[in-house]
Amino acid sequence: MPDAVIARRIVLASHPAGAPAAGDFRLETLALQPPGPGEMLLRTVYLSLDPYMRGRMNPTPSYAPSVPLGGVMVGEVVAQVVASRLDGYAPGDYVLAHAGWTSHALSDGDRVRRLEPGQAPLPAYLGVLGMPGFTAYAGLREIGRPQPDETVVVAAASGPVGSLVGQLARRAGARAVGIAGGADKCAYVRDELGFDAVIDHREPGLAQALAAACPKGIDVYFENVGGPVWQAVFPLLNPFARVPVCGLIADYNGTSTPRPDDLSVPALMRAVLSKRLTLRGFINYDLEHYRDDFLRELPPLVRDGTIRYAEDMVDGLENAPQAFMGMLKGANFGKLVVRVAAEDGAV
Ligand code: NDP
Repeated sequence: MPDAVIARRIVLASHPAGAPAAGDFRLETLALQPPGPGEMLLRTVYLSLDPYMRGRMNPTPSYAPSVPLGGVMVGEVVAQVVASRLDGYAPGDYVLAHAGWTSHALSDGDRVRRLEPGQAPLPAYLGVLGMPGFTAYAGLREIGRPQPDETVVVAAASGPVGSLVGQLARRAGARAVGIAGGADKCAYVRDELGFDAVIDHREPGLAQALAAACPKGIDVYFENVGGPVWQAVFPLLNPFARVPVCGLIADYNGTSTPRPDDLSVPALMRAVLSKRLTLRGFINYDLEHYRDDFLRELPPLVRDGTIRYAEDMVDGLENAPQAFMGMLKGANFGKLVVRVAAEDGAV
């Protein structure tokens, strides 16, 4: 068992105002005692840096708790076991762990996953084979569901999420259109990742360029950024388009405190993401496949009074305009129906 090790770690020194500055972080050292029973000592080999960490630096919690001032910055690492008193882990093992921005950590095995060396380069478990890759795979499969010949658009297209979204979309037979910042990233997305088209959002004319790249509109928009990119995408969405709302990085450095009565689009999208809201428009005839169930289940419930309803009956066709105008102002109480003639045929 080794002696105490000196861990270097980076803690949150202050909440950033806008973009994080160097002074918002502090490097500290800490003596870690050898692992106790049920613990192991990990040596960080690779630390993942991800956009979500910006949210954790704010004092207001989102879908996950904030890092407290003085707390170690959160993050996933590929680490090697240095010493272990935890069953199933031995020195030399590689693991994926949520140790944070630290050179060493003690772990009880919680949220630790063993990595099989040789299956893939270790850093890939933080990217394409790790959390970002899984995000792309699962979000596209569950919500995006690209179909052959559809158009899939994704921004931050050279990054770990966007690059996989586009490649998986193409594997599903869809057209992949990437949005990226700068000529080098765009060339990579087009030439190496094989996207069908790519647009540089730093160049002027984003909306026009996107429209030209999506002549049949957009069927899946995998939302990674928000802001002006969303503005350019929005008018091009086709009926029945799917929008997995994954990230809104354009807003992460925003300084305004969210207000509960804010109905702006950025506030809505933030809520959709952090509360995992499902907003899906429909017109009743889209759902015709429920008709038989409806006609089987409802009539008996209406007949026996379990389901109740109100009717507002107006007599005479000549009164229809007045009744209709009143309905739009709330004058009706229950289903507004005009009795045009008697049921039994009497005049
Ligand atoms: P990246 O490695 O791609 O890095 C972020 C990229 O975002 C930047 O390189 C930049 O690329 C782009 N970007 C930054 N600011 C803007 C802006 N204002 N407008 C347009 N693009 C911008 O990140 P990831 O692939 O790790 O993550 C992508 C998104 O997915 C993020 O929003 C992230 O928060 C989200 N995410 C969500 C998860 C979830 O569970 N919901 C999990 C993982 C990630 P460029 O220069 O090309 O514009």
